[in-house]
Amino acid sequence: MKPPSSQGLRLTCLLLALASLCLPIPLWKDRDSLMQEEKAQETGGNLVLSRQEQQLNTKLVSLKKMEIATAMTTGQFPPSMHFFRAKRLIDQSKVFNIIKLMPKGAVLHLHDYAMLSVGWLVYNATYLPDCYICFTHTGTVRFRFSKPHPPHPVPAQCSQWVLLESYRKQLHNVSEFDRSLVRNLTLVTDAPEQAYPSQTFIWKRFEEVFLIASGLICYAPVFKAYFYQGLLEFYEDNVQYVEIRAILPTVYELDGTQHNKSWSVAIYQEVTRQFVKEHPDFLGAKIIFTAHRMLNVSQIKEAIVTAMALRAQFPDTLAGFDLVGDEDEGHSLWDLKDALTIPYSLGVNLPYFFHAGETGSLLQGLLLVLHGHFHLGAVLTSHPLQQQNFSAIILHFKVKQCLSQPQVLTADTHQSN
Ligand SMILES: [Zn+2]
Repeated sequence: MKPPSSQGLRLTCLLLALASLCLPIPLWKDRDSLMQEEKAQETGGNLVLSRQEQQLNTKLVSLKKMEIATAMTTGQFPPSMHFFRAKRLIDQSKVFNIIKLMPKGAVLHLHDYAMLSVGWLVYNATYLPDCYICFTHTGTVRFRFSKPHPPHPVPAQCSQWVLLESYRKQLHNVSEFDRSLVRNLTLVTDAPEQAYPSQTFIWKRFEEVFLIASGLICYAPVFKAYFYQGLLEFYEDNVQYVEIRAILPTVYELDGTQHNKSWSVAIYQEVTRQFVKEHPDFLGAKIIFTAHRMLNVSQIKEAIVTAMALRAQFPDTLAGFDLVGDEDEGHSLWDLKDALTIPYSLGVNLPYFFHAGETGSLLQGLLLVLHGHFHLGAVLTSHPLQQQNFSAIILHFKVKQCLSQPQVLTADTHQSN
């Protein structure tokens, strides 16, 4: 092989030198400006911290590093553990307790039956007079308030009604019984992976919990107190505004009188006003009326008509409509399009807040939007708050980890983003 000529060698060296001189400079420059641009677009990227805020930030970051270092030594890293096991560690976390005090803005994903610590239901609601309980053959319970006579008929596959006050009196260990009621009203178990091997199992149990809670929550005095207490818990977590997805079930009185949906929305409105009056730095609460996605098209049509009427009656309280239930098992948005397009065809503004996408039907929702059926574009641009809420539907993918994990949608939250 012929060695390269000295002229050829010089040319090669010159080219390499030029390349080393010229290429890296624009590349590094591009990289730095790109990184800076991206950082500026992150949440709070353009915020300039005051000296006090910088001190807090330094403290928070060092606490965070300490907690990560501890997790490395103990091998217990909460984001990689099942939420039920991690919760105890999260509650002890100094970082979490600082975050708890910080202002949160709005909570946009809440459900009427799951907005309050379950302990309140057991240690307050079930201790109210005239509370009856019955026991199912699968080891769960049902509740009902009534006076003077125990209500009939007994729910399917349940024992006779027993007055809870008398039942507790003949128990040796009331605390253990109350703890069993708490277990009845939550998904928490020592072995979640075995208890809930699939989404079908978890959804069955999930919906049973709501059925158990409904006997308590739907009793009119509890309904009002529960909502007030729910707002209080959020207020204490420094939340300023909430939106609650509510199925607006029938609320009952001690004598069996039943109230309609309009009554429930009026109570939500009244309790919210009272709460804001007593806590003027709290901005308020709105209701998103929801129907179960297992219902058929004509039942959903009925729900849409009800939603339009309720929104006309309570324009400041009823924000819009959504569907709840397992997306894989229930109807997709597309299946229900004949019902969901009714407001648009009537020229009525009924905003939709679909939390579609938990298990896959977001695309169908977006398709309906893109085809103009929901006319969301106009709705969103004319109502900035709703536009934020719609964004929240997308953001929701990132923040709903605590729910996703028990629902068997993700196993290790620190790897799922
Ligand atoms: Zn939800």
